[in-house]
Amino acid sequence: MTMKKLAINGGSPCRDTNKSPWPKWPVWGKEEEVALIEVLNSGVWSYNGPKEMEFNKLFAEYTGVKHAICAVNGTVTLQIALEALGIGVGDEVIVPGLTWQATAATVIDVNATPILVDICEDTWCIDPKEIEKAITPRTKAIIPVHLYGAFADMDAIMTIAKKHNLYIIEDCAHKHGGEWKSKKAGSIGNVGSFSFQLSKHLTAGEGGSVTTNDTDLAEKLDALRNVGRRPEGDSLIGADKGIGDYGDDGNFIQSGNYRITEFQAAILVEGLKRLPEQNATRDANGAYLNTLLKEIEGITPLKRDDRETKKAYFNFAFRYDSSKFKNLPIEKFRSALEAELGIIVDACYEPLNNCSLYVPHTKPSRHKLNDAYWEAIDPKRFSLPVCERIFKEESVCVHHKVLMGTKADMDLVATAIKKIYTHAAELMD
Ligand SMILES: *Cc1c(COP(=O)(O)O)cnc(C)c1O
Repeated sequence: MTMKKLAINGGSPCRDTNKSPWPKWPVWGKEEEVALIEVLNSGVWSYNGPKEMEFNKLFAEYTGVKHAICAVNGTVTLQIALEALGIGVGDEVIVPGLTWQATAATVIDVNATPILVDICEDTWCIDPKEIEKAITPRTKAIIPVHLYGAFADMDAIMTIAKKHNLYIIEDCAHKHGGEWKSKKAGSIGNVGSFSFQLSKHLTAGEGGSVTTNDTDLAEKLDALRNVGRRPEGDSLIGADKGIGDYGDDGNFIQSGNYRITEFQAAILVEGLKRLPEQNATRDANGAYLNTLLKEIEGITPLKRDDRETKKAYFNFAFRYDSSKFKNLPIEKFRSALEAELGIIVDACYEPLNNCSLYVPHTKPSRHKLNDAYWEAIDPKRFSLPVCERIFKEESVCVHHKVLMGTKADMDLVATAIKKIYTHAAELMD
């Protein structure tokens, strides 16, 4: 019997992560420690505190918008964006079939109907041609998601929005700092929605932000995250009208408490200082890794669109063609790559027409508004062939911390894939 070469078969791995671990995520330092202690000792732990106001200001500047407003997470930010735009009963919202469940679930949470459409195979982002086909007289908005290492085609999407008079909510949970034709993600549509959950590339464990250039919308968003209260004093950064002039101090909109804490905001202020350099490192490594992977038969990196003037990588994703790997099933390829590199190697999100975390029919008490609505929100009625093929047969995703390593680390990723290519037969018996 010959010795097997692949790490999954007991061979030596391409990377010994005991000796050389991958970069850590999240990243923090003394700065975060000092900021957290400062908040602790101030006794101001929440509610329009100085750290929250500072972060809103910094994040608005960074994103190139008039207003950025923190909230508790990137799910609630989608929900309040929909509510602020007046979207609800009777409305349809077009959403990509490949995304985190919140993009569609929040549409149902405001009693509107998510319309799932297919994606482009080269970017995994919503396909503008499929958007056109899905538009009806009830369509009110589109939620493009700038997924993984790609950007939704905002030229085509904004053209469609203008033509049909639709709102655009950019789901930027993967795109803090990314740019399309020199405009930051979250500054192109009517509202941008960001997540600061632990996996995201700007994080406070949990958290979110909504961005907009529309001051009326910002007032509503600010109220919606704060139990419907009118924005107080200078709590709404950049507001140039209206604030304080309402004459009564009652609520002007029904809502709940979706506020962030000062502890989270303190970490975000420090994290934002690190973000431009981290994004630049991930971009340089992503570009380099793409050139290496293009050389491997059966591997296709996600398209880097020239209109993306700044890349922001959330994870590194590429496509796999098993026919070029002696028909090695993708699950085995991913496991073999995990063993070579000592990192988790995942598929992409489950397409929302068959996703274990997107099951609106489990909650009739909330979502069965009537029989027609119940049918309309059934995810299974949507056909998403490209999403399904990418998910089942082609998607390979690794954590963005891999892109925070060195050029040599990128060489190692390519070497590991080539090793599996060469020894695929070992996994076939
Ligand atoms: C993470 C994520 C969200 C939700 O953000 P949370 O902060 O986890 O609630 C929404 N959309 C996409 C695409 C995401 O990746």
